[in-house]
Amino acid sequence: MDVKTTIRSIPGWPIEGVVFRDLTTLMQNPQAYGQSCDILYERYKDQDVGKIVGIDARGFVFGAVLAYKLGIGFVPVRKKGKLPWNTIEETYTLEYGEDTLEIHEDAVEKGEKVVIVDDLIATGGTIGATVKLVKKLGADIVECAFVVELPELKGREQIQGCNVFAITEFD
Ligand code: AMP
Repeated sequence: MDVKTTIRSIPGWPIEGVVFRDLTTLMQNPQAYGQSCDILYERYKDQDVGKIVGIDARGFVFGAVLAYKLGIGFVPVRKKGKLPWNTIEETYTLEYGEDTLEIHEDAVEKGEKVVIVDDLIATGGTIGATVKLVKKLGADIVECAFVVELPELKGREQIQGCNVFAITEFD
C-alpha cells in the first residue's frame, strides 16, 4: 500500500495558489491510516520516548494513535483559547494567515524525550512555533514527524538543528 496515493489534492483551496493535500481520504482508508501509524511506531518504538506532542488538529489523529501504540502519554498543542490550564504561547505565520499556539506549562518534563507529530509540514511556521514551546518547557526533541512534507516550501529551515521525518512528500 502506497499511502501517498490515498491523499486527495485540491488545487485552489482554501485560497488561490495553494494545493491542499487532504489527508481525510488517507484517514478513511484503514490500510493507509494503519500503515501510516505503523511506520511512525516502528521508527520510535526503541527510542525511549516519554511523550508524543501532537499539533492541533490533524496532528492529534496520528499522534494519539502513536502514543497509544508506544504506551506513553499524549500532549496536545492547541490553537489559542482552547486549553483550560496555565499555558505558554507562540504566534506564527501560516502558508495562509497567522495564528497562536499554546501548550500547558506542565505538559512535559525538563529533559523528557518527545516526538512532535503533525500531518504536514509546509512553510514550517506551525512546527517552528511548536518546537519553541517544547524547548521553553525544557523537553528534548527526538524528532519532528509528519505524514507529508512539501519540500519546496523549505519548512525544515524553521527548525534547524531538529531531526525531521516525513512518510511521503509532494513537489
Ligand atoms: P506550515 O505552518 O506552513 O508548515 O503549515 C502546516 C500546517 O498547515 C499543517 O498543520 C497543515 O495541516 C496545514 N497546511 C498548510 N499547508 C497545507 C497544504 N498545502 N495542504 C494541507 N495542509 C496544509
